[in-house]
Amino acid sequence: MNVYDSDRMSDALAPKGFEASTTPDGADLIILNTCHIREKAAEKVYSELGRLRALKEERLKAGRPLTIGVAGCVAQAEGEEMLSRAPVVDFVVGPQAYHRLPQLVERARDGERPVETDFPTEDKFEHLPQATKQVTLKRGPAAFLTVQEGCDKFCTFCVVPYTRGAETSRPMAHLLDEARALVDAGVREITLLGQNVNAWHGEDAGGTASNLGKLLFALAEIDGVDRLRYTTSHPRDMHGELFAAHRDLDKVMPYLHLPVQAGSDRILKAMNRQHTADEYRALVDKLRDARPDIALSGDFIVGFPGETDEDFEATLQLVRDVGYAQAYSFKYSQRPGTPAATHDVQVEEDVKAERLARLQALLNDQARAFNATMVGRTMDVLLDRKGKRAGQLAGRSPYLQAVHLDAPDALQGHIVPVRIDAAHANSLSGSLLHGDAAATPATAVPELPVA
Ligand code: SAH
Ligand code: SF4
Repeated sequence: MNVYDSDRMSDALAPKGFEASTTPDGADLIILNTCHIREKAAEKVYSELGRLRALKEERLKAGRPLTIGVAGCVAQAEGEEMLSRAPVVDFVVGPQAYHRLPQLVERARDGERPVETDFPTEDKFEHLPQATKQVTLKRGPAAFLTVQEGCDKFCTFCVVPYTRGAETSRPMAHLLDEARALVDAGVREITLLGQNVNAWHGEDAGGTASNLGKLLFALAEIDGVDRLRYTTSHPRDMHGELFAAHRDLDKVMPYLHLPVQAGSDRILKAMNRQHTADEYRALVDKLRDARPDIALSGDFIVGFPGETDEDFEATLQLVRDVGYAQAYSFKYSQRPGTPAATHDVQVEEDVKAERLARLQALLNDQARAFNATMVGRTMDVLLDRKGKRAGQLAGRSPYLQAVHLDAPDALQGHIVPVRIDAAHANSLSGSLLHGDAAATPATAVPELPVA
């Protein structure tokens, strides 16, 4: 989400002559795109601003002023407060106002310190890229497409409903237009984005509320859309057409991020997740029935208020039962304004740390085992970037693993069958299949294959 938002900021500023820079040193404008989801992420912003203060002073002396803005969810949550807490900040902009960046930068340069954190009232999607405008800009072969924003679930630990606002879905016609425009710009793989993506219920052509499964079927019809993904899903919003999309559409990649957070029903209830651990297990079974090769990824929180050893054991058991290819896990972090933050039985920091270490050891074992099963297999890889060495390209497997291989530059942007030779901690390496398809008949085609 934040990568996508940063791209949107670059896009919004491009007409003003701004270009993205890889280091702060030569920049005229620095925007920190911030995250409010956990305390650690939010506090990082202030230490970063402290570092930028020195750079700003240096610049002023050198006669080349530097403008500093704060964007994202910390900006949204703290608004005006940021200006007094960090005098180095020239403007503050929330995630739903990035289309106003050019004016905000101008006002900041005129000496004002504007703060723009209102949620849009009339056109709820005014701040999102409009298909035809956006695609004039360069895109890699894999792109994000925001289909829905905000969240109405109100999990008791989470700030998202407050920082990103109520759930809103973009109409299907806009999304199909934007997908076509992305394809025209060279995109092969589209990841549908939303805080609660499978709650998408945008209007179809007839003005009726649709669902994400139907949207995937419609997107799969577009020539040139070769791969589809969506993230992040909520277990409660898995629906019939979505299972059907996994079953019937080869373009839908066999990989799903489906966070569960915890394995104890008592904790799931206190989190207001609105499902039990067994209901989640049943969803996983149903997904595997629909698409036997599907791999799962998840999010977990340890040390939610009131979590006992027994509750935590239930999380470990769920992880063992499901088996994850990949996962993110966090210590519970008290977030201002959320119901769980004021719970009177907070878990001790050292208990959280110990539980997190145990959970991560298990999840890492599962991820390693999953990656090891790839060795010797042939898979389609979308080559989306240059590798570290000359003559090397890197790409993504259907399971979103990074794959490195020797391949000519001309293949960048193509989907090619690759034989996986080795699995490393966070990536795979492989070889491009030339004429040796007979050795690995799975998905290989003879000759230097490009899809
Ligand atoms: N919409 C997604 C999650 C969005 S937030 C869902 O419902 O699953 C991304 C992840 O951050 C969450 O899945 C959760 O694991 C983690 N997270 C959110 N709030 C947190 C908090 N207060 N403390 C620790 N982790 C948190
Ligand atoms: Fe946060 Fe996800 Fe729950 Fe919404 S569904 S409140 S984004 S964790």
